[in-house]
Amino acid sequence: MQQSDEISNLIKALSKIQGFGNRSAVRATINLISNKSEKLTPLIKALIDVEKNISTCPICGNFDTCTPCSICTNPKRDSKVLCIVPDISSLWAMERGDIFNGKYHITGGILSAINGIEPSDLNLANLPHRVKTEGFEEIILALPATIDAKITSHYIINLLKDTGVKITELAHGVPIGGELDYLDEGTISEALRQRKSI
Ligand SMILES: [Zn+2]
Repeated sequence: MQQSDEISNLIKALSKIQGFGNRSAVRATINLISNKSEKLTPLIKALIDVEKNISTCPICGNFDTCTPCSICTNPKRDSKVLCIVPDISSLWAMERGDIFNGKYHITGGILSAINGIEPSDLNLANLPHRVKTEGFEEIILALPATIDAKITSHYIINLLKDTGVKITELAHGVPIGGELDYLDEGTISEALRQRKSI
């Protein structure tokens, strides 16, 4: 029996999601169609809500219902400290439990010779201008403890050389190869408290 276009289109769409292979997409499709009212309908509603209401902040790269995002525009946040994170999930990890009260800049990844990720692929070109115009006094690098992330840190340090801004990095605490998203709040908080100048 041949699958209907509707089913194969859903499998194809799901299999494009990062972390989903074809097998997971097939399983999810069966699960969704078998449980339309409990799973498929709420998923459709959530997807439509996100498509309609969520956008990427043009300043920091965060997702929010307003642009610029509610972190960038919150006057109660410390506008002297900018934390550089590789991705949204790291920002969300920092935001869990009120660990950090400054602003963010999402790079959108880290440099990688093996994966062909170059500086122009990251959201970094505007960073020196942002640091100067917004008047940040400290930049905290919250990148994973990998060799590629070290190379990325050096690139950012070099990029910001002329701004004269103080640059620090999270203390370890952060396990080798570990990403912020997998750390509990206590570990992130400690790594932030013990951050070191570089
Ligand atoms: Zn923002």
